[in-house]
Amino acid sequence: MAKLEKRNIPISLPAIGEEEWQALREPVMSGWVTQGPKVTEFEKNFAAHHKVKHAIAVTSCTTGLHLALTALGVGPGDEVIIPAFTWVATANTVIYCGATPVFVDIDPLTFNIDPSQIEKKLSSKTKAIVPVHLFGLCADMDGIKRVLPDNVKILEDAACAAGASYKGQMAGTLGDAAVFSFHPRKTITTGEGGMVTSNDDLLAETMNIQRNHGASISEEQRHHGAKPYLLPDFDMLGFNYRMTDLQSAMGLIQLAKLTDFITERQKWAKFYIRGLASIDWLELPEIGKEYKHGWQAFVCTVKEDLLPQGRNAIMEHLQQLGVSTRPGTHAVHMLNYFKKRLSIESQDYPAAYAANETSMAIPLHNRMQEEDYQYVVQCLKDI
Ligand SMILES: *Cc1c(COP(=O)(O)O)cnc(C)c1O
Repeated sequence: MAKLEKRNIPISLPAIGEEEWQALREPVMSGWVTQGPKVTEFEKNFAAHHKVKHAIAVTSCTTGLHLALTALGVGPGDEVIIPAFTWVATANTVIYCGATPVFVDIDPLTFNIDPSQIEKKLSSKTKAIVPVHLFGLCADMDGIKRVLPDNVKILEDAACAAGASYKGQMAGTLGDAAVFSFHPRKTITTGEGGMVTSNDDLLAETMNIQRNHGASISEEQRHHGAKPYLLPDFDMLGFNYRMTDLQSAMGLIQLAKLTDFITERQKWAKFYIRGLASIDWLELPEIGKEYKHGWQAFVCTVKEDLLPQGRNAIMEHLQQLGVSTRPGTHAVHMLNYFKKRLSIESQDYPAAYAANETSMAIPLHNRMQEEDYQYVVQCLKDI
């Protein structure tokens, strides 16, 4: 094949355009711009797509995690188990509740929490676990449940996992509750935004109330009610984590495209796996048959022992060629705040540490053309 000319390929670009733009017209013209009918419709469709009873739209995955942890009863003195390799929000939200994050190392092949290392981290204070479905690949939920006592709550950090599934069950239905993200780096976006899901009626009701200041009835319900003098009751501490109808109008359009987005990502992930297989210094993602990967990101590992230069030099080189890359995510236990607060050493979680140093996401998103993928493969093979 002829050599491709230099191209500029961003690590990620949201797949939004004319339809999303048009969808914003209705809430702007009607005046319903905070949580209203579009939010209700987005929640209903999101729940149906993920085959879950309840979906509650929020301002981000981060606020959704805080909301869900609070509703699950996580508070001061409690411990919450999380993987050491994840976005910092997984750990921050535990601290918002006054609880302590307890890290568990990851399985280097999946970048997800290693179930065989959970048991030694359980204590009488363990209140919950937050398995992360990193990059759109579900955590080994059966492996996790096998070692978990019944009283420990499970909250999925499904930020990257819209549309993904595990043993035929959708992300968002694999624990007591789950939280998704609609940040532009994720597969579908509302700018900022998140969605909490649960099959537990009481928990969902609590989260529904707490995301709206703790008000027993929503603005939309009041708007349509016959008794204008009624004010809501406020029986619990609440937050304002409401999504706007503007975001939901966009989310409805994006959600309708989710299946196609993932099908396209799947196709190009396979293309990468085939096209890059001959590169001995690059370890590619491997997915078990029981998993449907959401491919929020395509993350490899640079085997530095097989190269004269390290991962960072490779990333700089690719950047010069127009191919943008990023480390997969970070090892939270190595971030200064957590290191100091929890007195941890980088080497305490060796797989998370290694992933922090050698993981590399290459571009995979719904705004790339065939030639873009071919160019990425060409650049990597030329190294
Ligand atoms: C993106 C991400 C978050 C945070 O999502 P926001 O919507 O930006 O708050 C949390 N956890 C993981 C694993 C993520 O990838």
